[in-house]
Amino acid sequence: MTPGDAREMHPHRWGDPAAAAALPDAARALVELAFGAAETPAVEEFALPEPTLAEEVVAELRAVVGDEHVLADDDIRRRRTRGKSTPDLLKARAGDFADAPDVVVRPATHDQVQAVLDLAVARRVAVVPFGGGTAVTGGLVALRDGFTGVISLDLGRMKGVRDIDPVSMTATLEPGLRGPEAEALLGEHGLTLGHFPQSFEYASIGGFAATRSSGQSSAGYGRFDAMVVALTAATPSGRLDLGTAPATAAGPDLRQLLLGSEGTLGVITSVTVRVRALPATTAYDGWRWPTFGEGATAMRTLAQSGLLPTVLRLSDETETALNLARPESIGGAGDGGCLMVAGYEGTRAAVDARRAAVSAALEDLGGVPLGEEPGTAWVRGRFHAPYLRDSMLDVGVLVETLETATFWSSLERVYAAVREALTGSLGDQAIVLCHISHVYETGASLYFTVAVKQGEDPLAQWRAAKTAATDAMVDAGATITHHHAVGTDHRPWLAREVGPVGVQILRAVKASLDPAGVLNPGVLIP
Ligand SMILES: Cc1cc2nc3c(=O)[nH]c(=O)nc-3n(C[C@H](O)[C@H](O)[C@H](O)COP(=O)(O)OP(=O)(O)OC[C@H]3O[C@@H](n4cnc5c(N)ncnc54)[C@H](O)[C@@H]3O)c2cc1C
Repeated sequence: MTPGDAREMHPHRWGDPAAAAALPDAARALVELAFGAAETPAVEEFALPEPTLAEEVVAELRAVVGDEHVLADDDIRRRRTRGKSTPDLLKARAGDFADAPDVVVRPATHDQVQAVLDLAVARRVAVVPFGGGTAVTGGLVALRDGFTGVISLDLGRMKGVRDIDPVSMTATLEPGLRGPEAEALLGEHGLTLGHFPQSFEYASIGGFAATRSSGQSSAGYGRFDAMVVALTAATPSGRLDLGTAPATAAGPDLRQLLLGSEGTLGVITSVTVRVRALPATTAYDGWRWPTFGEGATAMRTLAQSGLLPTVLRLSDETETALNLARPESIGGAGDGGCLMVAGYEGTRAAVDARRAAVSAALEDLGGVPLGEEPGTAWVRGRFHAPYLRDSMLDVGVLVETLETATFWSSLERVYAAVREALTGSLGDQAIVLCHISHVYETGASLYFTVAVKQGEDPLAQWRAAKTAATDAMVDAGATITHHHAVGTDHRPWLAREVGPVGVQILRAVKASLDPAGVLNPGVLIP
């Protein structure tokens, strides 16, 4: 990827704005009905802070990666400022690029990454590894205090497939491959990773590993961290190669230290993942449940009887009703209740058998089959929601998502507590939607979408709501994040989740791998 590449995201919008459809008239009418009309803010170019990195350090970086791969123009610095959470977008829309890196450095090899880290330690420069730039919890914001400058270490040139092992069904991928690029290269070998988060079109292999991402097909393919069998990282203390067998009893699993480390312990330079055969066929069905609780019970039953489809999602009453405002998108689920989508991928025989078994179980549990249309409508639109968020921000509606996970026995309580915290903070006018899209034998994740009319200070408005919701999660014993990671936003709550000894361990590992603290300062580690 090079600056100006079609895959470059807009500095304060999702993806390629040319690919975004305008807010449909029906949706705009709905928004105005609920929140009132607002003016679309003008899009402008904004000034950046002066870089602080010394010219001689820039020259040393150029010597490592080549002149053309150290970029310091305003456009690339803007595009490497923060990630794509709603607060990130709001700050950029308001012209706040205070977190811009001084330079963007684009290494091509593990050794170049290592050399940049060594230089960063010697010159006391903070380094922010950058994959796809889709972070939503402040993982791309480095604290500058005590550093001579900030480098955005853009891994976008590391886009190779290093190895495919068709016997073991593994592939070794470089970190800068974005979702579609990895799938296209694996597809040439008849393989798939099966990892399709909503950010799939832009997020990278290294980012998936560094944040312990979870895709929409996690019921069938598993979370990203469960797919990783080996990895290599460059750390200020040296090279780390982990993973020599499919399973081992050789002490604690050190791969897990790098998975979810969000660029604070090392830069992941290759990832070996378990792959599967490209599915010969896919099928998606819609189901209606009278209540969210009954749908959730059905999900639990499937998960606990080993009968999961590849995709399994359940929208609550509000999310279902809001989709019903666009009847073309979910077909015949017009009688209220809650919409479930069950998707199947694999060989024709496997899909037929699993679909028949799951469908029989769901009917037994009281689900009403809605046919294929709601499922295929979901597949068609599944990567469009981030564009819709931009359209909503344009008309003055604050839209953001947050997520958690908990055990089945606490699910209803956590669901109620988070909803209550959000509406308590944002007011009754706030619309809170929720779905379950990642299920396990023992529990599930809850993914909330919130929409409310923007107040005078939307950043403070969201900060208060997010604080209330995260407190509610922790108080209810749920995790602060199921797949969005910690970043800077969740960091204040991490100690409550892992306890004082957990914090001590994280700090000790950080001190061992990155004693000078140059990697992503201020992110993750309490
Ligand atoms: C609209 C939208 C939808 C999303 N949907 C999902 C979803 O369905 N599931 C999900 O799990 N997440 C989702 N996310 C969150 C985000 O896409 C994930 O966290 C993703 O895994 C980040 O990948 P990235 O390549 O964009 O990483 P980046 O945003 O570039 O980086 C994320 C963090 O990882 C670090 N990092 C990146 N690459 C490396 C590397 N090679 N080595 C070490 N550290 C590195 C960065 O420094 C940063 O701290 C969504 C985000 C958005 C904006």
